Parts: sequence; C-alpha cells; structure tokens
Amino acid sequence: YYNQDTYIYLDGDFVKATEAGADLFGQSLHYGYGAFEGLRAYGTHHGTRIFKAEEHFARLEQSCEAINLPFTWNQQELIARTYELLAMNNLRSAYIRPLVFSGANMHLTSAADAHLMIAAWEWGPYLGHNLLRVCTSSIERPSPKSFPTRAKVSGQYVNAVLASNEAINKGFDEALLLDQDGFIAQASSENLFIEKDLTLYTAPINKVFPGITRQTVIDICQELGIDVVEKNLTVADVLDADSAFLSGTASEIIGIKEVDGVVYREDWEHTIGASIQRKYKKLVLEEENYEVII
Ligand code: PMP
Repeated sequence: YYNQDTYIYLDGDFVKATEAGADLFGQSLHYGYGAFEGLRAYGTHHGTRIFKAEEHFARLEQSCEAINLPFTWNQQELIARTYELLAMNNLRSAYIRPLVFSGANMHLTSAADAHLMIAAWEWGPYLGHNLLRVCTSSIERPSPKSFPTRAKVSGQYVNAVLASNEAINKGFDEALLLDQDGFIAQASSENLFIEKDLTLYTAPINKVFPGITRQTVIDICQELGIDVVEKNLTVADVLDADSAFLSGTASEIIGIKEVDGVVYREDWEHTIGASIQRKYKKLVLEEENYEVII
C-alpha cells in the first residue's frame, strides 16, 4: 500500500506515509469508532478521473453523522486534495481510502476530536477478473436495529472479515450474507444482483449497504431498458437464477460462477451482468463521451 516515497493526506497536510502516525490510545483503534470510504480513480483518455467522487465524500459525511463523529471538512476541498495526492504519488489510476478517526479517548462516549486521512494506491479489481465461486455464510449481516448499517463504519467490518475468512477457509472466493430475516442480503463488501428471465433482482435498499455501484447498475439498467426489481431474495431464488454478479467500487462488476457448488447454466458472456460489466467499464473510463470532451 505504501513505501518510503508514498504521501498521504493527514489533517490538512501532505505527509510521508512512513512518517505519519495515529494515537495508540485512539477510540477508533480500540472500539472501531471511525468511518471510511473506498473510491477509484481511472486513467481516462482525458486524464485521471475519480468516479463519483461527490457521492463518496457525501456518504463519508453521512457515515460520520450516523455515529456522531464530527465532520468538519469541505467535501469539494477534499476532492481537490485527493487529485493532488494522486499526482504527488504519480498515480494515474488508484484505489482511494479516506478514513475519519477519533483521537485518544478510552470512554465509550464520543471523543471531541476527529482526524481525517486519505491514502491511495494502485489496486487491481479486489476479487480478481475470474468468475467467482461463492458460498452462503454462517455469519449474518448486523441488524439495522443494532447498528446504522447504511454507514461505512470501521467496526462493522469485523463482520465482513469473519464472513470472508470463513469463505476462503472453505475454499470459496467470497461469502453471501443473510439478513436477520434469513434472506440473502449481499456479499461481505459488495452488493448482489441475480438475473432471472431477463429481469434483475437485488435486495431492498433498507436491507443492504447502499452501494454507489449498486445505484450505478440500476441507472445503467434504466438506460438499457432492463427491469430491476428490489425484493427479499431467498436462498432458492439465488440458486435458481439464470446468472448473478456482485457490484462494488473495489471489485467493480464481477460475475458469479457458482453458489454453494450450484453452477449457473448461462454462459456469463451472454448475461445481462456481462453487458453491465462492459457498460460500467466504459462509464468509469468516460469512453462514451470521449468524442465530445476532447
Ligand atoms: N457493501 C459493503 C458492506 C461495502 O463495504 C461496500 C463497499 N463500500 C459495498 C457493499 C459496495 O459499495 P460501493 O458500490 O459504494 O463501493
């Protein structure tokens, strides 16, 4: 993620990653009381472009608000600083990680001070390029009644780590987590879509993390005239589907080959998911309107 020459942005300054530090008595380190984001920048024909930067920084502020963590930064300024950071690190394309964390406080009440760091590094698609073998997880998504699950809060990711570890230890690539009602909600850090009879289905927004890529998929479908239905997905719905795929900033759009050993019959290249994958690539690389912009 970094070496001797890497810069990060920390509390208003660009500093060497190897020289920056955080408080070992920090509330975020001990209790997972922090909020973060994951963005991607792409090297397009007309320079580096961060995909949906406004949406991601807006969600960062909302995540902080959801857990009463002070957010005192200007979103537009943070976007500008992120572009500077990419240039300083000679990154044309990158994964970008802003993190808001609180300072020293061993009490469980919110600390007064909050810090913000932004790091960036070159990162290929998180789950690789190959179709995925996934399993249903014994780990459930946290209930929205116990936690603001719409917020991207550090501590929540223990749930994702446990589900991912379980899947990898069982020989799978990724886990599908059930919600508190026994429906399949999403993967550890991606949203799930299934295709059945030329319609896409995905879990209702109140049951899942509100993925920006999930919304992008829905927008692409609207443009292509493909129906997307939000509904509770049973395990049987997912196993009986014609095809399925995951969406997320880090993983982008990636097809699923099999769930719990049940292989999808349809050839991925002929699925709606594959069309969306191609369209998404063009969108992030801003290829569609290349003629207009140059
Ligand atoms: N679910 C979870 C739990 C996530 O952490 C992420 C990634 N932030 C996603 C889904 C996908 O969200 P996005 O498309 O905004 O990256």
